[in-house]
Amino acid sequence: MAEASQRTRAVTTPTTHANFRIIFHAPFRDLNSDHEQILAWLGRNLALPCPYCGKISPAKNLLFEWVVEMDVEVRLAKRRDLKAVKKLADEHRRELGFAKLATLEKAVQEHRLLVAVISPTRVPCSLSRVPRVIGFVHFRCCKDGHATIYEIAVAPEWRGKGVGRKLVEAVCTYARMHSCTRLRLKCPIDLPANGFYQRLGFVRIGVETPEPARLHTCTHARHVNRRPLAIWELDLQDFVHSTLNSQPATHWQFYVGLTADASSIRALVRRFYEGYSGQPPFHPFERIIVSPLFVPPATLRLLRSWRTGESSPVSHAPCPVSLIFDSGGYQVQMGKLSYDELCRRLRQVYERENWADLFVLPDHVPTSKDSDAEVERKIKETLTMGELFLKWVFQGTRDTGQVIGVVHGRTVKQIREGVRKWHELGVRYIAFGSFGTSGKDGSVNLLSQNSLKLLKALQDEALSLGMKFHIFGIGNPTYLVRLKNEGIEPTSFDSTGWWKAGGFGNLLFVGAPQLHFARYSASMGMVSTLRAKYVKASVQHDCPFCSDLRALRETRWLRVLHNLVAFVEAVHIVTDGVQSPHLLLKVMRR
Ligand SMILES: [Zn+2]
Ligand SMILES: [Zn+2]
Repeated sequence: MAEASQRTRAVTTPTTHANFRIIFHAPFRDLNSDHEQILAWLGRNLALPCPYCGKISPAKNLLFEWVVEMDVEVRLAKRRDLKAVKKLADEHRRELGFAKLATLEKAVQEHRLLVAVISPTRVPCSLSRVPRVIGFVHFRCCKDGHATIYEIAVAPEWRGKGVGRKLVEAVCTYARMHSCTRLRLKCPIDLPANGFYQRLGFVRIGVETPEPARLHTCTHARHVNRRPLAIWELDLQDFVHSTLNSQPATHWQFYVGLTADASSIRALVRRFYEGYSGQPPFHPFERIIVSPLFVPPATLRLLRSWRTGESSPVSHAPCPVSLIFDSGGYQVQMGKLSYDELCRRLRQVYERENWADLFVLPDHVPTSKDSDAEVERKIKETLTMGELFLKWVFQGTRDTGQVIGVVHGRTVKQIREGVRKWHELGVRYIAFGSFGTSGKDGSVNLLSQNSLKLLKALQDEALSLGMKFHIFGIGNPTYLVRLKNEGIEPTSFDSTGWWKAGGFGNLLFVGAPQLHFARYSASMGMVSTLRAKYVKASVQHDCPFCSDLRALRETRWLRVLHNLVAFVEAVHIVTDGVQSPHLLLKVMRR
């Protein structure tokens, strides 16, 4: 379509489309290659609510998944959309408060209501011809250059598919065309939606504690249950259209752990690029995490030259890497040195090697054997030492953006308090470090229910305060998908698991248990080549490093690089929503 005509039309009707996928579940035997028939079949046999009319018809067998491209259109609401909008608003009364039909009606007249609808032509259900409203946003452009979003909602079954993003984007476009420079909204601080606004580039500019008596002249500022409200603002002049279209890497940033000697790192990077003939589809060595206290000096020199851009892990496409220095608190937990010794040495290293992007403040890691009192003491020590480091090493700069504070705790209360205390100290990036300590038996179980509960509390608290958060040491790529399924989406995470597992002769896959696959351990539960082939096919994985299974069995670095690719695949799945049918099936049967 011609650019110009689209723009002209947009003046009166801002319209955006989102392409995304819905996954339907269908018994395999009922499908054939006839597309029309499949669509007709889907209309009769949906296992999920029909996106069009909302009707649920259970499928008989969940054997096969079919992906249908859908079109979502965002446009100004019409009178005939009102009923659907009102229904959607009522379904979100807890979040939005009570929406009067008269208010919405006025908003339609004044062009202050946008709806997201599914176009009827693309829907497999042929029962109705009326477009279905799946989301709306109610807003206002003021003369003083401020635009305000009053209410925004997306139907539950359509969340996480970019609909909310499209709605906000449409408001931005509309507001800028009406000479607004700023977009504001208020959101109760306990709602996960705060993370959504942060990811869209909104900045939290304050918190409002509503007065008990409502004496507002503005009838739209509804105070929902009188909860404190986070005030978010987006600069519409800075706002770049494309950042909303292609989701920026504001979460799931993968930092590869490279706590190794320089020559091994160099060889591994070279082999990675050779494996892809110099043209890999991704560059995993752009983000690196190391413990500067526990790597040889040559490794620090190598990483420094990568960080400053003097040299590059990507020879033909120089790009300075992003680097995190880890405190090495884990080494204290292992009894390699005392916490005081760690802090003393870490201070020296951080002062001398001040060229990393982010510095993890020294944390006193509780162990599962610690009493509750000891855990409490270690949490306090971590915060006290963090404050000292901010003063010593980072000149007490508030909002420095340079440090990561580690949050430990056994209880939700400890975690929430920890996050708030870091925030008070001016720290805006925190990390969850308590996987190993939340299990009673001392087992490191990433996905124990308690760990997930703590992690959720950390995420809620961090997002409501506009903070970023990191997850340390994810051992298996499948965990990323499980975390995502639990609604946990960190800003960043790191892993050394890919390297370690490869060294121990293990192969990692997204959506399958790891395989022990090395020659030297033939007697100890080693799997056959046939089995490896089967797993590869079942998770639909292939990469240059595991294509020759015999070589893979013989060669450590092939396994290491394959594992690295598996991690990057998992990142793609959780960020792009690229779903392998296999994975979804696992999720369904959980
Ligand atoms: Zn239907
Ligand atoms: Zn592979």
